[in-house]
Amino acid sequence: MTHNERTARRRRAIVRRLRRAKLEALLVTKPENVRYLSGFTGEDSWLLVARGRSVLITDGRFAEQAEREAPDVELKLREDGMVATTADLLRHGDLGRAGFEPGSMSVLTHAALREKLRRRDRLEAVEGWVEKLRAVKDAGEVEAIRRSLRIAERSWRETVREALEAGRTERFLAGHLEWTMRRRGADGTAFDTICAAGAHASLPHARPGGRKARPGDAVLFDWGARRDGYNCDLTRVVALDRMPPEIRAIYGVVLSAQRRAIDAVAPGVRCSEVDRAARSWITAKGYGEAFGHGTGHGVGLEIHEAPSFKARSAGRLRAGMVVTIEPGIYLPGVGGVRIEDMVLVTKDGHEVLSRLGKSPGRVELRREGS
Ligand code: ZN
Ligand code: ZN
Repeated sequence: MTHNERTARRRRAIVRRLRRAKLEALLVTKPENVRYLSGFTGEDSWLLVARGRSVLITDGRFAEQAEREAPDVELKLREDGMVATTADLLRHGDLGRAGFEPGSMSVLTHAALREKLRRRDRLEAVEGWVEKLRAVKDAGEVEAIRRSLRIAERSWRETVREALEAGRTERFLAGHLEWTMRRRGADGTAFDTICAAGAHASLPHARPGGRKARPGDAVLFDWGARRDGYNCDLTRVVALDRMPPEIRAIYGVVLSAQRRAIDAVAPGVRCSEVDRAARSWITAKGYGEAFGHGTGHGVGLEIHEAPSFKARSAGRLRAGMVVTIEPGIYLPGVGGVRIEDMVLVTKDGHEVLSRLGKSPGRVELRREGS
C-alpha cells in the first residue's frame, strides 16, 4: 500500500465517524493530524475532511510541497485569512455542520470562525477522533519509529563514549547528544533533551544547566530523535565511574519494575494494569511515594499520545500501539533513576523496539560498542 493509499484509508475512517455523528465535515487543525490524514508535512495549513471530498487549506509557500505530498486532496490556496477561507468553504460547500478539534483551536479563532458562518451552521467540538486512529500504528509507522530509535541509540552511545567525563556540564552533554543525533540523520530532537547529574536527577524533568558531572555521579539522560515525523523516547542512567551505592539500590528496583510492566504488555490488557505492574513492585519495595508519574505513554507523530499508563487510565491495549515503559524512583538530595524503553504491542504479546543495554556501568556500555 502506498503512503497516499494509507492516508486515503484514514480519511475514510473519519468519514464513517462523520456519518455516525451526523456531521458533514471535520475541520482538522492539529498539524500532526493534518499530516496523518493527508501526507502534507508543512505548517500553517488546515484540512477539511468531508464525504466525497477533502480540502487542504494552505498558502502559496506550500503549493508545490502540497501537490507532491498530498496529490489526492483538493488544494485551496488561501488569499484571505485562514478563517475567512475556511468559512467560505463550509458555507458554499454545504458543510454547515462541521466538527472541529477544540484542543488545537484557540477561543479567538473559534469565535472569528463562528462569526463568519450562517446562524443555522453548527460547529461541534469532537476531540480525539484522529488521535484514536493514530494510537494504532501501521507497518510503515513502526518502521519510522525504529529508524528514529536507531539514531537515538547510536548517538547516545557516542556521547557517553566521547563526552561523558568529569567537568562536563549537563548543558554540554545534552547539546553533544542533540548534535550527534542531527549528524546521524535526525530531523530534530523529539523534545528538549534531559541531562541531570548527581542529585539533580531527583527532578524527573530536570532542565540541563551548568552543573558539572563529578566523579561518583550517576547521570540521567532522557532523550529522543525525530525522523520522518516520528519520535522516539528513551531514558538511561549511567555512572561516571562507578554507580553510587544508594543509586545502585534503587536501580535494581526500577529495573525489575520495568521488566514487570513490559511483561504485562499484550493486546486486550487494561492500560491501568500496565501501570499497576510497575507501581505495585516499587510500592512493595518501600518507594511508592518516590514514583510520582505514570508508567508510560504512546509515541508517534507526537512525543506524548494515546494511550497512557496511569493508575486510573481507561482503555485497553491494541495490537499496533507503540508505547514507552518508564518507571522511576526519585530521592531529593540523592538523585533519581528512570529506565525507559519503547515497546510495540503485537498480535500475541509485545516486542521491545529499543535495543540499548541496561547495565548501569560504563564499562559494559563500551563493550556493547556502537
Ligand atoms: Zn522520556
Ligand atoms: Zn516518555
